[in-house]
Amino acid sequence: MGKIRMTNPIVELDGDEMTRIIWKWVKEILIEPYVELKTEYYDLHIKNRDNTKEQVTIDAANAIKKHRVGVKCSTITANEDRKKEYDLKVVGISPNGIIRKILDGTVFRKPITISTIVPYVPGWKRPITVARHAYGDVYSSTGAIIEPNTKAELVLTDSSGKEERKTIFEFEERGVLLAEYNLDSSIKDFANSCFRYALSEKTDLMFATKDTISKIYDNRFKEIFEEMYLNEFEHLFKEAGIDFTYTLIDDAVAKIMKSSGGIIWACKNYDGDVMSDMVAAGFGSLALMTSVLISPDGAYEYEAAHGTVKNHYYRYLKGEKTSTNPTAIIYAWTGALRKRGELDDNANLMKFADALEEAVVQTIESGVMTRDLFDMSTSTNKTWVTAEELVFEIDKNLKI
Ligand code: NAP
Ligand code: MG
Repeated sequence: MGKIRMTNPIVELDGDEMTRIIWKWVKEILIEPYVELKTEYYDLHIKNRDNTKEQVTIDAANAIKKHRVGVKCSTITANEDRKKEYDLKVVGISPNGIIRKILDGTVFRKPITISTIVPYVPGWKRPITVARHAYGDVYSSTGAIIEPNTKAELVLTDSSGKEERKTIFEFEERGVLLAEYNLDSSIKDFANSCFRYALSEKTDLMFATKDTISKIYDNRFKEIFEEMYLNEFEHLFKEAGIDFTYTLIDDAVAKIMKSSGGIIWACKNYDGDVMSDMVAAGFGSLALMTSVLISPDGAYEYEAAHGTVKNHYYRYLKGEKTSTNPTAIIYAWTGALRKRGELDDNANLMKFADALEEAVVQTIESGVMTRDLFDMSTSTNKTWVTAEELVFEIDKNLKI
C-alpha cells in the first residue's frame, strides 16, 4: 500500500530540548514512512523566538487559525536563568500564552488510560478531563508594588469620561496589588466549548469556582454557565443522558479525589493550570496527559501537557541513557492527524491515527515502556527502554 495522502496541511510548531529530539524520531520513524506528511512548519526553538521577537509564534498561531489544525512541541518559557543559559536578548513571553491569546478558546487535558498502568489514585478508573479556560484572569493581570502610605483605588472611566472610583486598600506599609479581568464573550465561548465537548464525549460536566468569596468576579462565571445551560443545553444533556453540575471549587476537589473518573471538570484559567497537573500526577505520569486547545471558531491545537524535560536533555547531551516517555507527543500527532482527517473527509488518515494509538497502548501493555511507567505497571514481564527504543518497538506493533 502506498503512503496516505493529505490534502490540507497540519501547522507544525517545533520546540525545545528533549521534546524536540523526540519530535524528530516520532515524525521520522512513526509517521513519515506511512503518511505523505504535509505540514506548514514553524520553528519555535527558543533562539528563533528570541531572534524574531516572538513573531514566529504569532505567525504560527495565525496559521492554526487559517488551517484549523496545529500540533505543537513543548517549548521553554524563558526566565532569567534561561536567558543566561541560552544567551537571549529578552526574557520574552510564554509562547503558549501568545497562542492562547490569539486562538482564545479552551484547553482540554485528558489522560491516556492504559490497562496495565495503575493510577496513583487507584479509584480513578476512567479519564478525568480538565477543561481550562485559556483567557484572562491572572495570566493577563497587572501587578504593582505599593509603597507605604498609598491609597489604592479602582478607577473606571466610561466613554463620556465619567469616573467611578472604589477604594481597594489604604496601604500603611509596603505591599502588593493585582488587577485582573475577563470578558463575558470569552466566558460564554468557554462555557459553550465545555457543553459541546461534554456532549461529543457523552461525559458529565462539572464547573466550579470560588463564588462564595469572589462574589462579583467568580459569580459572573457561575451565572453565565447556568444561563447558557438552562437556555441552550439542558434538553441536549437530558437526551444524551449526562449531567451538568455547578459546585464550589473546594467541594469539586473533594469530589474528584473520591470519584472513579469519567468526568469533565471545567476550571477557570489558574485552577485549570494547577489542577490539571494534579490530575496528571494522580493518573501516573505527565507523559500520559494530552492537551488540546479548541478555539470558538473551530481551530484545534494539539500538544503534550508536559514541558521540555530539561534534565533528561542534559543527560542525553552527555551521552547518558535517558528514558523519556514519547506517549503524549505521539498522541499530540495522532490527535492532529485524526482531526485533519475528520475535517478533510480523509478516512485513511483517521484510521492511521487510531492504529498508531493502538500500537502505543499495545506496546506498553506488552511490558515495554519508559522508566516513568515502570513501577506503576502491572505487567509481569516488564522492561524499560529509552525513548528511541520505545519508538522502534511501537513501530513494530503498528499494523496498517
Ligand atoms: P517538564 O519538562 O514537564 O518536566 C518535569 C519532570 O517531569 C521531568 O523532570 C521528569 O521527571 C518528568 N517528565 C515530564 N515529562 C516527561 C516525559 N515525557 N517522560 C518522562 N518524564 C517526564 O517540566 P519542567 O522541567 O518544569 O520544565 C522544563 C521546561 O518546559 C521549562 O522551561 C518550561 O518553561 C517548559 N514547559 C513547557 C510547556 C509547554 O510547552 N507546554 C509546559 C510546561 C513546561 P524526572 O526528572 O523525575 O524524570
Ligand atoms: Mg501548569
